[in-house]
Amino acid sequence: MNRIIFLFTLFLSIGSLASLQLQHNSKPVKPQVRLLKIKRGQTVYSLLKAHRFSQKQIQQILAHYPLPPSYTLSPNDLYLVQKTASLYEILFFDKHKNWVYVFWKKGRQSAGTDIRKIPLETRVIQASGFIKGSLITSIQKKIPNQQVAYRFLDAYLYIPNLSKKLKKGAFFSLEVEKKYFKGHFIRYGEVLNTALEINGKIEKRTFIPFPKGGAFVNTESTDWLYERPLYSPVSYIRISSPFEYHRFHPIKHIRKAHLGVDFELPKGAKIFAPLKGKVLRTGRTRGAGRFVVIQHPNGLQSFFNHMSYIAKHIKKGYFVKTGELIGLVGCTGYCTKPHLHFAVKKNGRFVNPVKYIKPYPFQKRQWVLDALARTASDLPKSVHR
Ligand SMILES: [Zn+2]
Repeated sequence: MNRIIFLFTLFLSIGSLASLQLQHNSKPVKPQVRLLKIKRGQTVYSLLKAHRFSQKQIQQILAHYPLPPSYTLSPNDLYLVQKTASLYEILFFDKHKNWVYVFWKKGRQSAGTDIRKIPLETRVIQASGFIKGSLITSIQKKIPNQQVAYRFLDAYLYIPNLSKKLKKGAFFSLEVEKKYFKGHFIRYGEVLNTALEINGKIEKRTFIPFPKGGAFVNTESTDWLYERPLYSPVSYIRISSPFEYHRFHPIKHIRKAHLGVDFELPKGAKIFAPLKGKVLRTGRTRGAGRFVVIQHPNGLQSFFNHMSYIAKHIKKGYFVKTGELIGLVGCTGYCTKPHLHFAVKKNGRFVNPVKYIKPYPFQKRQWVLDALARTASDLPKSVHR
């Protein structure tokens, strides 16, 4: 079963490309547009050379390099070439947001860079199937993209020992956004509604977007709203490394327990107190980087590592309120990419934090409650095979 349903089409007309040409030309000229594929082994430098940017122009561009450090050119990714008589532009699509990174040249002398919003069209497709092998590979047989498969898994990470509860032939379904530019598929977007058969029972998770974030919530059972003692310390849950007693350390290359969970977030994302409590320690170490430890009245302790910034008033002995801003995500200490290492201690032992948190921060609880009220009426009651 590989049904593809185009549910809705959404045009985000933020600024037309033609009008943006005014930035460089006095008279708007309809540009010639081509979509090209990145070749294997191609770098920004070799790509600019292939498009006959001069050495001087490449130097001007590298001085104002617009691509984020984490941006990689992957083979077969699409990029755009636009040209008029006087202006030649190469546009790379951001991998998450509706904007492009522009490398432009005029003649043989001037060149520069720019970041612009771009109107991408969003279509939503639905796919469903039955588990054969692992859940990840089963999803990828329907939607050939690893990020989408792992994103689906993020929706169910709050269920302990999930892999043991997935039987062969269990049902799954998902809706995922596809982003298009002028009819050409550019990339996948967010995973939206999901369903998964766990121990013979269909569970559903719906993505609720927040400003600068979002969370997967179970819109059918509200028990978890009350059972979990902590709120998520961040507004967007993307787990890059789960809680494990044994794992291969990416920097030290030794097997070592990972006694917390890593939430992948951009540097500067806000970190909130998951519950009220007293600040036990703050400081900076070689491994943890900038860190905060909070003692909560229910006996739990929460740990926040690799922070770029700790709020000024967050000092030992200070009483934080639930949802109070404690600092920002960073990459201090042993760290390869900005993330929050979040850990929870119960009775002196580290426990899996995802079993203790509601998947949204305290500040966003109203979004969740509103979404529950909204979806309760129009969600289908069962998934038909
Ligand atoms: Zn970690």
